[in-house]
Amino acid sequence: MEESRKMELPAGARHILQTLNGAGYEAYLVGGCVRDLLRGIPPHDWDLCTSARPEETEGCFAGQRIIETGLRHGTVTVLVDGDPYEITTYRTEGPYSDSRRPDFVRFVTGLEEDLARRDFTMNAIAMDLGGHLRDPFGGADDIKAGLIRCVGRPGRRFQEDGLRIMRALRFAAAFGCEIEERTAQAIHENRAMLDRVAAERINAELRKLLVGQHAGAILRQYPDIFCQFWPQLGPLVMLEQHSPWHCWGGWEHTIRTVEAAPAHVTLRLAMLLHDIGKPSCKSTDEQGIDHFYGHPAVSARLANEMLQALRFDNHTRERAALLVGRHDMPVPPDARVIRRRLGQLGPEAFFQLLEVKRADSMGQALEQVRDRLAEIDEIKMMAEQILAEGQCLTLKDLAVNGRDVIAAGVAPGPQVGRMLNALLDQVLSGQIPNEREALLKFIAGRQGPV
Ligand code: ATP
Ligand code: MG
Repeated sequence: MEESRKMELPAGARHILQTLNGAGYEAYLVGGCVRDLLRGIPPHDWDLCTSARPEETEGCFAGQRIIETGLRHGTVTVLVDGDPYEITTYRTEGPYSDSRRPDFVRFVTGLEEDLARRDFTMNAIAMDLGGHLRDPFGGADDIKAGLIRCVGRPGRRFQEDGLRIMRALRFAAAFGCEIEERTAQAIHENRAMLDRVAAERINAELRKLLVGQHAGAILRQYPDIFCQFWPQLGPLVMLEQHSPWHCWGGWEHTIRTVEAAPAHVTLRLAMLLHDIGKPSCKSTDEQGIDHFYGHPAVSARLANEMLQALRFDNHTRERAALLVGRHDMPVPPDARVIRRRLGQLGPEAFFQLLEVKRADSMGQALEQVRDRLAEIDEIKMMAEQILAEGQCLTLKDLAVNGRDVIAAGVAPGPQVGRMLNALLDQVLSGQIPNEREALLKFIAGRQGPV
């Protein structure tokens, strides 16, 4: 067992552990990489901790590629074969206030004190060169049991750094772990601590949470946490929908659509927010049926605001808001309409919109939507064929351009653009082929006899 763990370590990690040990210092792999090794998945970054002071660590790796950016917090990054290894001197840390880094750090002499500052038991395990574990908080057992548990008193740990609330939810969503009861209770009780956490830090965790395989379960169990940083979700969480098209309330429907969407941040955000405008658009007719007229546009506006508040990058924000705004846009299995939509949205957003529509349908009672899902498959195939054939979708694909239009007798000015758009319209609707001669003939016909 220990031998096999050792085999999994990359040469770089072994080199660093050996070098520090050889110079008389303690050194361990620690945190996420040990957790991932124990879970049997390949670590994506390598953190080490050591009894060596930062300048001593630097001394051990003199002549090798070193990055000093974390030095103030005790971290020296050594590059081996291009891979970064972050080596941090045993330390405790102060509160995070609202920044990405703790306000202060203090070096300590023992490994256990360093492990004690870490958030969850599964992240507070150290492993030495021989594969031996130092695991004072029972993290390995918690990993086996699939439990996320705070190191120390949960309430206190969340009060030190509210981001840990999001980290707990993120790990649970990604790994399908349960959050241990006292930890879960402390998460609910201390949710207001999130108000002090920088939007960028929440954003980074939320992205990972939403693409987690178990994101739906977390949305279901912790709506209060999501409402803490996005209070606009509150009315959706409470929304009832009396309608023949919906068998669930607004929140359960939303969760099901998030679960049904591919694990892509933009799509998951679009699903989470696609009906956010429904509560304010709700009306009830004489039969007692609820309607939500105009909600996609309201949802898009709200989504844009919410994504901005959480500092999402422009591309993600704009694309998600676009998909939210268009989620009910009609797309029938009709080549003429598909060509128009492909031209308007561009192929990438068009195919994303189909995913949104598919996920939205899957959030409804399945027996009602089977035909719709088959139709979406058909639309997707038609769109792929249209693209494969290189069919005309936009003005720049037309077999004539502005110069041709002028040469054909249209006076320079805005009427040239109008003529090009009329031509595109004819081609998209299949009235005339996208061929130079046919287009020029159409222009001549519009110009009337000379
Ligand atoms: P990932 O797989 O996303 O990298 P990770 O647990 O490695 O997860 P990092 O941000 O890389 O997350 O942090 C490395 C380690 O530092 C964690 O495993 C944990 O021990 C500790 N840590 C990180 N953030 C916090 C925090 N906010 N509070 C306490 N300990 C933390
Ligand atoms: Mg990590």
